[in-house]
Amino acid sequence: MNILVLGSGGREHTFAWKISQSPLCNSLFVAPGNSGTASIATNLAIGVTDFEAIKDAVITKNISLVVVGPEDPLVQGIHDFFLKDNDLKSIAVIGPQQAAAELEGSKEFAKEFMMRHNIPTAAYQSFTKTNVEEGYTFLETLQPPYVLKADGLAAGKGVLILNDLEEAKTELKHMLVDSKFGNASAKVVIEEFLDGIELSCFVLTDGKDYKILPTAKDYKRIGEGDTGLNTGGMGAVSPVPFANKSFLDKIENQIVKPTVEGLKNDNLPYVGFIFIGLIKVGDDPKVIEYNVRMGDPETEVVLPRLKTDLVAVFKAMANGTLADVTIEIDERAATTIMLVSGGYPESYEKGKEIKGVDTIKDSIAFHAGAQFIDDKIMTSGGRVMAITSYGETYQEAIKKSYQTIENLSFDKMYYRKDIGFDL
Ligand code: ATP
Repeated sequence: MNILVLGSGGREHTFAWKISQSPLCNSLFVAPGNSGTASIATNLAIGVTDFEAIKDAVITKNISLVVVGPEDPLVQGIHDFFLKDNDLKSIAVIGPQQAAAELEGSKEFAKEFMMRHNIPTAAYQSFTKTNVEEGYTFLETLQPPYVLKADGLAAGKGVLILNDLEEAKTELKHMLVDSKFGNASAKVVIEEFLDGIELSCFVLTDGKDYKILPTAKDYKRIGEGDTGLNTGGMGAVSPVPFANKSFLDKIENQIVKPTVEGLKNDNLPYVGFIFIGLIKVGDDPKVIEYNVRMGDPETEVVLPRLKTDLVAVFKAMANGTLADVTIEIDERAATTIMLVSGGYPESYEKGKEIKGVDTIKDSIAFHAGAQFIDDKIMTSGGRVMAITSYGETYQEAIKKSYQTIENLSFDKMYYRKDIGFDL
């Protein structure tokens, strides 16, 4: 079959890498893609939310499976767009319909879903500008730190964690009254602070059954020791060493099962990935957030550990036969280290030649913000390339990635040198 992957990051290069290994894949297209996907697929110069252009490509390229990488097209209803169109409704789309994509698109929707289905999460209340005073009163009942979350999508910047009550009240006002995050903060969820260590769990579902993929832990901050600004992700490790069997059983029984059951009971059709952001409080998992797609850079460590043919899995998801699929996982650990442009996540320069990629032997380079220009691989974004390695232990895998990076360079290249050191 011909397959289209939507997106242009390291996540989509990893999808393309895994899909291209499947005998079920004839022609593979990525829109818009990057230098990594250009080497194994055909890049199409189409934006991920340009549904009409995607439709044209699907028809002219005879595509029968579309894998949606990022959240924006899902929250904007790409799956519904396909279902409503006579020419497209038979095409398999991996990613939920708009109603279920609200699990990521609205934090209040996600919290209400968790409350309704008894899924462990932080206590919360939500507020709009009409009851901002009640928000102040609620803040006064909480212990610091205070967690304020813009309800809508805010490119990973919409969560504030503040130690001071007065500052929390001021920020609440900025969000609700002064539209600090535009329409995304027209509603704000104020949450109890959960103290613990974070990890992520990835679930595949066809809307009836589910399969759990390996856990991963990502590193969000730009600086070593988890300091500085938040980024899209600076590295990841899979599996998560502290997630033992009894903890994984709790995740499955207390969170994954009720989530998939909840989707069914609420009549929210879901064919796709559920990314569950978790925090381990004592010995118990609690949900921090749902995302309705895979994470980046977690994909760069989770999919390399999947031995099963991913296209066969996608076909089963689309056909509602996921229960029949056996998911086989590579026992080895996988880690990835993200190379970023100096200055990221603030301003940075692009157009720097990336040298040494052709020397890589023991690792896999998943390209992110990188493009071919005149046969050279040039930087084109903040996060440039994820260097993934396998190891018998995660320490061995990390060591390999750092050794590979010694032979890679571009002007002002930066990466964290402590990925996995806290585990
Ligand atoms: P992202 O886009 O980075 O995935 P987001 O903006 O959708 O995140 P959340 O994942 O809900 O927002 O929160 C971002 C981060 O804030 C979390 O990864 C976690 O570190 C922290 N956080 C969120 N909620 C809480 C909480 N209740 N207690 C402690 N920390 C929290």
